[in-house]
Amino acid sequence: MDGKQNKNASKGTKGENRQRRRRKYRGAQSHVSVYFLLWTIFSAFILLVVLLFGFTQRFIMSQSYKNEASKDVSAKGAQIEADIERGLPAIFNGNVSAYLRVLSQQHGVQIFLFSQDGNLLFPTEPNLDGIEEWEGYPDFKKEVRLLLEKMQKSKGETVLYEGYGTYVYGAEVRLYNTGSTIYLYVGQSLSLMETVSSEMTIRTTLIAIFTFILGFAIASAVAGWMTKPLSEMTEKAHLLAQGDFSVDFRGNDYGLELVELADTLNFARDELSKTDKMQKELIANVSHDFKTPLTMIKAYASMIIEISGDNPAKRNKHAQVIVDEADRLSSLVSDVLDLSKIRSGLSEFKTQAVDMSAKLEEIIDRFAYLKETQGYHFEVTIEKGLYTYADEVKIEQALYNLIGNAVNYTGEDKKVFISLEKQSKSSFRFAVRDTGKGIKEEELADIWNRYYRSSETHKRPVQGTGLGLSIVKTVLQIHGFEFGVNSEVGKGSTFYVEFPCI
Ligand code: ADP
Repeated sequence: MDGKQNKNASKGTKGENRQRRRRKYRGAQSHVSVYFLLWTIFSAFILLVVLLFGFTQRFIMSQSYKNEASKDVSAKGAQIEADIERGLPAIFNGNVSAYLRVLSQQHGVQIFLFSQDGNLLFPTEPNLDGIEEWEGYPDFKKEVRLLLEKMQKSKGETVLYEGYGTYVYGAEVRLYNTGSTIYLYVGQSLSLMETVSSEMTIRTTLIAIFTFILGFAIASAVAGWMTKPLSEMTEKAHLLAQGDFSVDFRGNDYGLELVELADTLNFARDELSKTDKMQKELIANVSHDFKTPLTMIKAYASMIIEISGDNPAKRNKHAQVIVDEADRLSSLVSDVLDLSKIRSGLSEFKTQAVDMSAKLEEIIDRFAYLKETQGYHFEVTIEKGLYTYADEVKIEQALYNLIGNAVNYTGEDKKVFISLEKQSKSSFRFAVRDTGKGIKEEELADIWNRYYRSSETHKRPVQGTGLGLSIVKTVLQIHGFEFGVNSEVGKGSTFYVEFPCI
């Protein structure tokens, strides 16, 4: 019971931490989830498609029905007009009404005859006289008025128009027996269309509701499917943030962009893991490097106290070791500090026009003691008057480190070649070449990394902390200068920097 409670409590804290982290990086804005966004977009799209489909169905349906009705009533009207003008077949025995009723039934249309002043001549049933409404003709009077209007305007031509819920064919006919001109009204009711259309509406609505529900379900599934890898990656990124470098980001089943994101995250993981490893190594290296001079300082100080205090020659020699070791310590500390200051942005870069020719000569002078004390040979070619915009102190440090490395890693002949020459109108190039072992292809990319030191132990005439090239890289990158290294194993390496001219 207790265990369970503890577990929950720790889960809660984890969740709270995550929430706090989210709040920290998300800023004041509140964002909706990608899942919700995708779902809304999909659903809105489906709704739009369904509505469009329903609307066009209705519209197209009613248009095509009206077209058909108009063609139909026009053909039937013309036929009925011809039949009436041809005269009453003998079989009807003079009963015009019976003949018209037969025609009406035969063609499935409504036939009316009106006098030119709008009196109803057929049908002649007494209950139809003066009616306002009639079955299928809710606006009978208006219908009659519309026919008269159209007929008067058409001046004897036949007319075809949409009346009140009907499609109408109107024509002037001459009655065969009386010879008088009257108006023929042949009407096709549109009520069938109304029925079909309202049924269509119901059906479309049902289909719309069904499609909508299905659409929502599909939208949820698709949105879930699309956001699943993102949630997975977020979970894994949290683990990575906690220092678990074994996480593997996968985007294989989800399309190119997610594969790229997964690759990038895997790359970031590898880099983080490398840095983590190097950082641990640095702590080990630096503590070792700190410890060695400290041990020496302590040992030589003890020797001065106990043994050499009275012997000035020995005492001076021992004191010199203490000074040298203190210098080593100091350069180690300043390298570590420099890099961390530059990296964290605490160190400001003040650019100004720098005479690089003069500067390089000044830097080379700092190595002069090596010529005299250890037999190093510097072959120097410097073109005069080459200027660039740079932070004088930082650029000096970068070039000093590169030359220092060439000294440290050059071959038995102790030769170092340094040049500063114009390359084009707009740039000049610094290069420092040594005749040492060179750098293996697989190590070339790593040498610029923080804390990287070749696995091989090396005795260095110039102090090295494994941070030198990392400082060079950071400084040159901030300046935006091109730089690099060409190296051949067994023959030596050339480090170069390209400066823009001013
Ligand atoms: P350090 O020289 O103190 O080890 P750096 O950051 O200056 O640290 O160099 C990193 C690594 O790059 C060195 O340990 C060495 O293996 C390699 N390196 C740098 N410069 C040269 C060079 N001129 N020739 C061969 N190897 C080099």
